[in-house]
Amino acid sequence: MSEVIRLKNGVVATMGKNPQIIENGEVIISEGKILAVGPSGSWQGKADEELDAEGRLVMPGLINSHMHLYSTFARGMAPLGPTPKTFTDILENLWWKLDKGLNQDDIYYSALLPMIQAVRAGATTMLDHHASPHAVTGSLFTIAKAAEKVPLRLATCYEVSDRDGLDIMKEGINENVAFAKHCRETTPTMMQGLFGLHAAFTLSDSSLEQCAEAGSDVGIGYHVHCAEGQADQDYNLTHYNKRVLRRLADFGMLGSKTICAHCIHVDHEEIELLAETKSFVVHNPQSNMNNAVGAARIIQMLEHGVRVGLGSDGMSGDIRQEATTVSMLQRLVTKDPGVGFIESGTLLFDGNIDFSSKLFGVTLGELTPGAVADIAVFDYLAPTPITVNNFLGHFLFGVRYTTAKHTIVNGKVLLKDGQLTTIDEVEAHAKARELAKALWKRLGA
Ligand SMILES: [Zn+2]
Repeated sequence: MSEVIRLKNGVVATMGKNPQIIENGEVIISEGKILAVGPSGSWQGKADEELDAEGRLVMPGLINSHMHLYSTFARGMAPLGPTPKTFTDILENLWWKLDKGLNQDDIYYSALLPMIQAVRAGATTMLDHHASPHAVTGSLFTIAKAAEKVPLRLATCYEVSDRDGLDIMKEGINENVAFAKHCRETTPTMMQGLFGLHAAFTLSDSSLEQCAEAGSDVGIGYHVHCAEGQADQDYNLTHYNKRVLRRLADFGMLGSKTICAHCIHVDHEEIELLAETKSFVVHNPQSNMNNAVGAARIIQMLEHGVRVGLGSDGMSGDIRQEATTVSMLQRLVTKDPGVGFIESGTLLFDGNIDFSSKLFGVTLGELTPGAVADIAVFDYLAPTPITVNNFLGHFLFGVRYTTAKHTIVNGKVLLKDGQLTTIDEVEAHAKARELAKALWKRLGA
């Protein structure tokens, strides 16, 4: 039997089907899983290590369902073009220039830093979407190396697109396939591959056909931006006489394993299509506000039975702020202060937990015996009583302002009393700054 850890003296929010708040609770961890949960001292066995929560909140680790790790080196970068007037300008003048400059060292460090941020913010699983057109081959394996260093539970994919020519498009297909196969053969409960697509408006029918064939051969789902801007719909209607989701559905790309990020400019028929195919929509409210692309109608989607989750779209490794923004954005656009609260929890907890549990083939998002030991202990002392019924209020308006005290992934303690156990973060940040400076120089920023 491997080392047994007793995480004691916490306010334990178990979540799961029969959620409980245990005022002075303990969680016993062994072999990467949860062995027992109960009042402190209730487990009779002997632990090899004791970790004290000191009365802080113990809960399942958080999940981020749409992330771009490679966006790290954009922070503080001078504009590469004129002030953007449209979302397409932002893509063309920032992201599609930055991604072309990335080499394998940049990819490694730009992946490592937001993962450190995630650990400090209690996020233990991340679903990444990557682009580096001049360093495609091996890029996902480089990201995986960073994830193994932390180690975080991670899925990644390469965003296939025609925008850099057909050779790079094909290289992207091969990278997705090679990485997904590798994950399946190695540690599928910790690392997974999806089939990345940029968006329908940068993929021809012939490219989508090749992606559909390659993706179904390996049996993986797609991870694609859908109707993030109105331009995606306009392009597909003009060139293919089809709306975005109809076109992807016609290639067999929608389904329960597929992530459709954003889905802002979708019509009623497309919402029905998302529900019918059980596709997973990922909402990214802070990014949507930042890019001025609009607000996804997540409340209508949920009412129609669409599965909806939450991502940060490269804004941050900390997913907690996104959850609070869900309700704020819905209230702002509907002018109704009564909406969005419950949905914040539905997206971050129900949606994200359901999708990632299936993707990794483990039980995530609950502190119950048999679930994997992905745990966040937040430095949160509640100013008012915490109950199962008001837990979401504490999370959205209190926990989000704290940092993690301890973070555990797959039974391994990655953050202990606020100190990272596997990475020298000062050194990692210094190396990243050096690489970012060189990258900016190459880009002429
Ligand atoms: Zn995105």
